[in-house]
Order: sequence, then C-alpha cells, then structure tokens
Amino acid sequence: MTKFIFVTGGVVSSLGKGISASSIGKLMQARGLSVAMLKCDPYINVDPGTMNPFQHGEVFVTEDGAETDLDLGHYERFLNQEMHHINNFTAGKVYETVIARERRGDFLGSTVQVIPHITDEIKSRFRAIAKGVDVAIIEIGGTVGDIESLPFLEAARQMGLEHGRDNVLFLHVTLVPYIRASEELKTKPTQHSVGKLREIGISPDILICRTEKAISPELKAKIALFCSVQKESVIEAPDVESIYEVPLVFHKQGLDEQIVMLLRLRTKSRDLENWTELVRRLKSPRHRVKIAMAGKYTDYKDAYKSVNEALLHGGVANDAHVDIRFLDTSDPDIHRKISDVHGILVPGGFGDRGIDGKIRVAQLAREGNIPYFGLCLGLQIAVIEFARNVLKLAGAHSTEFDPRTKYPVIDLLPEQKSVKEMGASMRLGTYECALRKGSLAWKAYGRASVSERHRHRYEVNNKFRKLLEEAGLKASGIHASKDLVEIVELREHPWFLAVQFHPEFKSRIEKPHPLFASFIAAAVERARILEPSPSESSHAS
Ligand code: GLN
Repeated sequence: MTKFIFVTGGVVSSLGKGISASSIGKLMQARGLSVAMLKCDPYINVDPGTMNPFQHGEVFVTEDGAETDLDLGHYERFLNQEMHHINNFTAGKVYETVIARERRGDFLGSTVQVIPHITDEIKSRFRAIAKGVDVAIIEIGGTVGDIESLPFLEAARQMGLEHGRDNVLFLHVTLVPYIRASEELKTKPTQHSVGKLREIGISPDILICRTEKAISPELKAKIALFCSVQKESVIEAPDVESIYEVPLVFHKQGLDEQIVMLLRLRTKSRDLENWTELVRRLKSPRHRVKIAMAGKYTDYKDAYKSVNEALLHGGVANDAHVDIRFLDTSDPDIHRKISDVHGILVPGGFGDRGIDGKIRVAQLAREGNIPYFGLCLGLQIAVIEFARNVLKLAGAHSTEFDPRTKYPVIDLLPEQKSVKEMGASMRLGTYECALRKGSLAWKAYGRASVSERHRHRYEVNNKFRKLLEEAGLKASGIHASKDLVEIVELREHPWFLAVQFHPEFKSRIEKPHPLFASFIAAAVERARILEPSPSESSHAS
C-alpha cells in the first residue's frame, strides 16, 4: 500500500519546501523505496507557462511537454527521475476540470461545491500519482494560513482519515527566526503556524525548522512540547553551502528513520555513499571558472534555476567550482566586464529587452575566442549576430523583435503564425535531434542521436541555412522529420555552440549534461591559458 507524505509550509514563503520534499524523496529512494512526487500550486493560472519569471521563477518543462513549477526541477535533479504533467497541478487546473464536468452535466441535480467536488478532484489527483509506488510525497504550495491553499489542505486532511494514520504523514516546514537584539531563537511563529494547521484538522507529525543558528536540545524539546510532536521529530534545517547537502543533514538527524517508523515502512538499509561523494566533490573542487550569464533577470536567480544547477553539475564533472556572474547586457562597459571570464552563456528568454546587448556579447565571444554556450534564445542571438557581422546582412533579426526585418534569419513556422491563445502553444517537450558526425556536439554527447526538451515559438529560417553554413556556422543537430535546426556551432573557435532546446532541464548532479560538462571543460581550459598555475608558468619560463 502506498504511503503518503504531505509537505506543508508555515510562517513565511521561500523556506525551501521544494528542497525539503526532494531531500526526503532522495532519502526514501536511498532505502530502496519507489517514490512519486507531486507539487500542488494554489493559484488560478492553469499552468505557470503564462507567468512572469519575476513572480514565479523559472518554468520547468517536462519530457511530455508540460510547463510546470520549478520545484519539479529539484525533484528530477535530486531523484534522478523524470517527472510528467501529472506531477504538478494548480487550483486553476482543478477548477477547470470540475467546471468542464459541470457543463457536461456530470453533477446534474447537485450544487457543485468546494467540499466535496473540488476536494474530491484534488484527492483523485493525489491518488493518480501514487499508483504502484511505495511513497508519494505531496508538496502543497503556499503558506499555511493563505486562503488559496485551504482546499488542498482539506483534501490532505481527508486523506489522513480515509487512508489511516499509519499511511499518511504530515510534515511541516517552518521558520525558527533568530532575533539579533536579544540573541535568541524564537519558537512562537512555529507554534502559531502549527496552531493554524490544527484549526483545519491537521496535526503535523514532523517539523522541519529552518534556522540560521543551531537549535539546542532544550529548544527542540520546547518546540516538541508546544507543537505536540516527538522530540526526535523536530528536525533542524540550517543554511548550507549547497542544496545537495540537505539530504545528508536530514539523515544525520534521523529524519528517514523517523519517517519509516511513523509510516511502518519496511526498507532496505540506506545507501547514500554516491551522494556523499558527489557533495564532497562539489565542496572541494580543484579548479575555478568564471561564467558570465547574459540573462534578462540579472538580480533574480530563480528565473534561471535549472541553468545555474546544470552549470554546477558541469563543474562537478570537471572537478571545478563554477562562479556564475550575471551580466547586465545594457552596460556600455561590457567589453571590460567580460575580459576575465572563462565562458559566456546566453540563456532562454522572451521579449526584446536587452537583445542588442546580447548580440554584442555573442560577437565578443565569437571574436575573442571565449567559450560561448547559447540556450534557445541564445542560439537565435548567435545566428542573428553571425548573419549581421559575418554575412553582412545589415539589420538581420528575428521576426519576434523586428517583424519587418529584410533578413528574417529567425522566424515563426506557418503553424505558429495562426496561434491565438498563448497558453501551452509553443513547441514544447521532447524532440529527437540527429547529430552531425564529427561535430563538437557529437563528440560531447558521444552518440548520433539525442532527445531534448523545447519551449519556444521561433526557429532558424531554413532559407538562410546554406549561407550560414558556408560562412562557418554549421548546423550540427537537426530535427529530421521537420528539418529544423536544433544545434549550431562554429568550427574555427575553441568552443562556440548553441542549441534551440533547453539542455539544462535534463542535467542532474548524478548525471551532468554532456553539453554543460563540455562547456565547463572548455572554460577550465581557458582558465588554464589565462591564469597558468605556478608550476605551469615556471615550466614555461
Ligand atoms: N523567444 C524565443 C522564442 O520564442 C526564445 C524562447 C526561449 O528562449 N525559451 O522562440
């Protein structure tokens, strides 16, 4: 029988509920259990695809083309396991389903209400992901006390009643703030948050307490007493250097032991050896590289979550620490700003802000032999730059940014031109890509064909392909059935490669993405040339 673990959050948002849920998933997996993950988002948007990354962070794309919450990225990266559209849903999606059924006449005669109709739909989605697995971990977005999350919490409460308390566990992630003036950790916000949960009929079994300072055994005992949990069930979650340490921090305090005991699970003995080794490598790298990221949301890191993580994984593959610097592409002094970086990455993006600066950055990378990695928009930028400055097609552009350009090197396919509703209408999800033998991409992947995830509307315009190729920008990856350019690369350059897809979504710490690994290898090489180590430089002289 499947066991359910509900993860809720209290006091404030941004406590890292997603990392906690992923870490618990990892710990269960390390005991040989099969795990399913689910994220419920209490907002009304049907999916986050139409939301601004400023408000919501990155949109994570699954293999089956769902635009989902970025926590699914953490789930995939921690569990090394693919998520699908059923692993994330919003209040909007639940209401959409229930209202469609009402219109069809499924509820004829009854008044359609939050309880039971909305909660039943939520519960059926909880059960759908739990089929055939040992443990289903369900993270409920938002903070306890929000109006929006009430139907989800109510559904979770009912699950406890229906499946029995041995089969359902409630875990609450909360904050224990440190008050500098009195030099004290405070438990009151946690007490209130647990009180709020109890009002709606949920008594948490385990508390994960986010804190800046170590929580003493006395304070743990106090939290346990006031919140009515076992002392062993008060788990401290201090700030750590790397998110990948969190499963180990939890394990040290016996969190997995506590979960298997409360849920009466029979498990194999745990195996965290490989994970421990990866964290060790991550924390004591031999090399250091600086990567400049030319994105739009320079001061909001969540917008590029998967890219940041994939760069870090590329670092692990090369025993290197990756120092990511956000570049403001509108800075007139950009030339100087990138003079000491070891690689430049242009991530995906929409809208025309900062496009000219990105084109300039691509040019500097191409001409200055700096490793360049373009992701989605980053490929389109590389193509525009090459068309303008090498092919001398003045004003070449993407029709996204200049609909009247004389040289539309990036353009919409006919089927995209007729799109009226924006939601879920891009080229989304996995597509096959055949690699050109002998190319940089082919060498990095070590195979002839790959599949990667997409999220974009515009494509390289095939009318210009021959011109681009003849001048040296080679199409080294093609989606054959539609003859679409998926990868371009420069031959006469240490490492210049751009992809129309989003490789960052498939990178995991246990399996760094080959292109990110190859890009960081090129950056390590550049660092070696720019700053030879003392032994090398003395050897040279
Ligand atoms: N705006 C571009 C397009 O829609 C690129 C999208 C992206 O980078 N994800 O094609």
